[in-house]
Amino acid sequence: MSPRPEPPEVDRVAASHAAVAARRARAAVKHDVATRARSARDVLDVAWRDPSSAEAGLRVRELLTSVPTLGPARAAKVMAELGIAESKKAAGLGIRQRSGLWNYLLGREGDSEPGRLVVLAGPTAVGKGTVSAYIRDNYPEVHLSVSATTRPPRPGEVDGVHYFFVKDAEFDRMIAQHELLEWATVHNSFRYGTPRPPIDEALAAGKRVLLEIDLQGARSVRQAMPNAILVFLLPPSWEELVRRLTGRGTEDTADQARRLATARVELAAQEEFDFRVVNTDVAEAAREVVELTAVSGHRS
Ligand code: 5GP
Repeated sequence: MSPRPEPPEVDRVAASHAAVAARRARAAVKHDVATRARSARDVLDVAWRDPSSAEAGLRVRELLTSVPTLGPARAAKVMAELGIAESKKAAGLGIRQRSGLWNYLLGREGDSEPGRLVVLAGPTAVGKGTVSAYIRDNYPEVHLSVSATTRPPRPGEVDGVHYFFVKDAEFDRMIAQHELLEWATVHNSFRYGTPRPPIDEALAAGKRVLLEIDLQGARSVRQAMPNAILVFLLPPSWEELVRRLTGRGTEDTADQARRLATARVELAAQEEFDFRVVNTDVAEAAREVVELTAVSGHRS
């Protein structure tokens, strides 16, 4: 016969009862995710709002492997890509990990959305802005995303039309509250990001959505929304690109050199894209990009 438990043992029993209850609660959360009664994002939302919740104590790995059709190998890969340690609990994630994980899940859950997301990227000064402005003015059926940026407006730029011009603190808030589908620091200076709610709404309504963003942004969108179509806008030639870059006259020489260096690296990335469109004539390039927003299910 073992000796009667001492009072501390009583505490231990109570603690182990609490642990059993917590484990049960976490199992119930996983069950809800596995049966699609709740989304993984809903679980994370509760975990991040209430650190004492069962959701908060759930390991990220367990949450991900509960998601229907997301296997352990895929979960491990996603966690490695986001720099999330194997044993990490939902509430223990840092800001970048939170937004990365959120966007990844959003992309998966967005897989069944009827709309189509097309990302237009390309080297600096290739004319992405001109082509997207042409699309904005001539193809109202395409929803053109308006990015947020910390850079000040250039002459003629209108807040809410060309960009949402925001202060650093506001940009920080948008990141923290998962309001950005992706964001990047462009040309080592200002931050640019894609506000997520308007895109979710447009896609849910079956609309064609176009993002004009930089290469880092395009890569982030590919991760977050694997069904997105990536279009690379090419200059007719490198000489033409240099001419366009130096002819714009809105940046000083150091800035131009920096943009040229970025452009060289960006040109090399065209292989990663689904389609390439050469921008010889703006109207023609715009038409080709718009046609791609109407393509359905070409990606495996
Ligand atoms: P600009 O300051 O000349 O308007 O834009 C500079 C760069 O920022 C362009 O390459 C443009 O594609 C990129 N950009 C604009 N909006 C976004 C965004 O929301 N996300 C990312 N990643 N890049 C953006």
